[in-house]
Amino acid sequence: MRVRLWGVRGSLATPMSSEQLREKARSLLTEAKPEDLASPTAIDAYLDRSEHSWTYGGNTSCVEIAFADQVFILDAGTGLRPLSAQLLADGRGKTHAINLFFTHFHWDHICGFPFFGAIYQPGREIGVWSGRSDAEPLLAAQMSGAHFPVKWGGLPSKITCRQIPEDTTVEINGAKVQILPLIHPDKAYGYRIEYRGRTVCYLTDTEVSKSPHRLAEAYAAFVAGADVVIVDAMYGFLDYHDHINFGHSTIFNFIDFFKETAIGELVIFHHDPLAGDPAVSRLLSDARRYKNLIAPNATWTLSAAAEGRSWDLGDI
Ligand SMILES: [Zn+2]
Ligand SMILES: [Zn+2]
Repeated sequence: MRVRLWGVRGSLATPMSSEQLREKARSLLTEAKPEDLASPTAIDAYLDRSEHSWTYGGNTSCVEIAFADQVFILDAGTGLRPLSAQLLADGRGKTHAINLFFTHFHWDHICGFPFFGAIYQPGREIGVWSGRSDAEPLLAAQMSGAHFPVKWGGLPSKITCRQIPEDTTVEINGAKVQILPLIHPDKAYGYRIEYRGRTVCYLTDTEVSKSPHRLAEAYAAFVAGADVVIVDAMYGFLDYHDHINFGHSTIFNFIDFFKETAIGELVIFHHDPLAGDPAVSRLLSDARRYKNLIAPNATWTLSAAAEGRSWDLGDI
């Protein structure tokens, strides 16, 4: 199983501004030593190790899970567009089965869907899964009326929307899939996806921070044994208090939840559009300090989601 992040931003796509790019360029130039710039190879090596040469990314939620001849896509935010290009480039867009899994149908999780190349392939079968029974009208709505030039009813592919029941593990093309109701306006569901003993959990968007004690046990049980656990951790400790009832969490609650849970890596996801790279890095370092205090014996690692980050969990 291979996991790759294509969109990690919450709420709204957030392209880097010229000012932010210039700030990175300034830091790179300031910190470079003459030998770092001595040859193209030296420049590449310098860029590889510098913390200023990359960005967390501005595309909204989209995560790829690949195994066997399958492509599972978690949410169809704007990150789906580069994933679509990749599937076309490496041929999987033609050869592999494609299934999309939606946490919910807020704009930031669906607005990449009309730009997904596979939906324009005549006869191409595409599975759409969610915890709701009305996925089809919700997806069709953004490709109807004056919202988008191509209409849902005119798509040449065969899109089949199905509901995943709560409290049941369903088998989809060889993978075990389970959902968890989340705390979010208009309903959202988290996913646990397991293939040949490798497991990814995806828990965005959810506001666990309002009543964490009530949820800790259920969340810990849901992710137990997972290799990668991606969670909505949009806010820091203090800014959460300005965003109560917005449907999002802080990472600190999840660190509490999972302090005694066997997982591989906990991943901060759904970054605040107002948080530039330095702010996300600060949140990650605060979270690591908190983890060292509260869960010094936890064996899992902690990271912040960045576009392009991938995990090769083996046994593909
Ligand atoms: Zn969202
Ligand atoms: Zn949402």
